Amino acid sequence: MNSHQPVVIAGAGIAGLTAALSLAHRGIASEIFERTAILSEAGAGLQLSPNATRILTKLGLLPQMEKVWSEPQAITLVSGVSLRTIASVPSGQFARNRWKSPYGVLHRADLQQALLDAVTANPLCTLHLGTAIDDTAQHGIARMTGIQPRLVVGADGVWSKVRKTLEGTGKAVFSGNVAWRFTLGEAEAPAFFDATKVTAFLGIGSHLVVYPLQRARSFNVVAITSGTNPGETWDSTLPPETSRQRLLGAFSGWHPQIADLLRHAVEPVIWPLYEVTAGAWYRGDEVALIGDAAHAMMPFAAQGAAMAIEDAFELASFVAGGKPLAAFADHRKSRVARVRSRGAFNRFAYHARGPIRLGRDLVLSLRRPESLAADFDWLYGYEPKD
Ligand SMILES: Cc1cc2nc3c(=O)[nH]c(=O)nc-3n(C[C@H](O)[C@H](O)[C@H](O)COP(=O)(O)OP(=O)(O)OC[C@H]3O[C@@H](n4cnc5c(N)ncnc54)[C@H](O)[C@@H]3O)c2cc1C
Repeated sequence: MNSHQPVVIAGAGIAGLTAALSLAHRGIASEIFERTAILSEAGAGLQLSPNATRILTKLGLLPQMEKVWSEPQAITLVSGVSLRTIASVPSGQFARNRWKSPYGVLHRADLQQALLDAVTANPLCTLHLGTAIDDTAQHGIARMTGIQPRLVVGADGVWSKVRKTLEGTGKAVFSGNVAWRFTLGEAEAPAFFDATKVTAFLGIGSHLVVYPLQRARSFNVVAITSGTNPGETWDSTLPPETSRQRLLGAFSGWHPQIADLLRHAVEPVIWPLYEVTAGAWYRGDEVALIGDAAHAMMPFAAQGAAMAIEDAFELASFVAGGKPLAAFADHRKSRVARVRSRGAFNRFAYHARGPIRLGRDLVLSLRRPESLAADFDWLYGYEPKD
């Protein structure tokens, strides 16, 4: 690794842009190569938990974030059948006090724009659009970029090309679940949508997450169910009516107001949910994977972007300290495995049926909000290596 050469980053998503800023934070230059010619953010909303916002604060992005996000007062679980509240974890000022950092919800495009503005303003970061990285051999990188990098960072998402150039890496595997996404203007939203909360409506074999998008004056709605695989794409090619019929089928038996809401959803878009659960994250000290490229996970704990942000920040810390990539991967793998287990637990609990569902509701309703919040101390209170 030649420390005078820049780091090459493949991908200008949340992981890649945060990696560039984190490296610059430590005085290391990077060149980011993004496959698409125009950066447009797929998807709608994003929850940013305190472990992620702590890092964005260290990178100087909190003031921009505060302008474009809202801080929900609580994360609430509600029965999708009766609309009765099952449990609620306090957030808002409580999150700032307990985890020493805020919990925010916003449009993904707003986070991407804030990261992009910071990258563009930083002389140590250079962004090249319209260039894909598909070879990580030294001569391949030099041919594509004209650079002999000290390190290549694969931040190129779940279907990573960089990952495919390494040995012993995992594969992106369809999880059996799909997500439908759409937004709903405040004026059209039903009365049971609460703009002060993140609400997860739980039902049999599926759940629906709703939270406000302050700047767009709308609600972000994500419905997650089991489903068939439309292929390696974020943009479903299914005709809208077929998509809607599948969505309604998955939510039959839910509260009529929710069924009605889904019936009128404007062009719900299906996202197949892929996971990368195993395999190597690096080659020697030349190539490292971060974010979804390394460990794409299901959104049941709303932690994929947060893990991408943590990876990016901690990778920069390891690189600046001259530590081997093996140490970085060991360190991050245990953290990501614990988060993945939490997501698997949520998947089991959120989609539970029969007696398990009744037991879940009873146990959760007996717990005090502060006690529920304490379950998240290890996750939201995480202090990254600085
Ligand atoms: C329905 C849903 C809801 C979610 N909600 C949350 C949430 O609330 N909170 C949370 O923390 N996470 C959430 N996540 C997870 C989160 O969206 C992802 O984990 C995160 O966006 C991954 O970021 P990334 O930068 O690793 O990958 P990506 O966002 O996929 O970015 C990869 C970038 O690399 C580029 N690229 C691809 N190939 C190449 C190449 N060969 N060369 C150069 N560039 C390339 C792509 O164009 C893209 O710009 C959710 C996910 C889903 C599906």
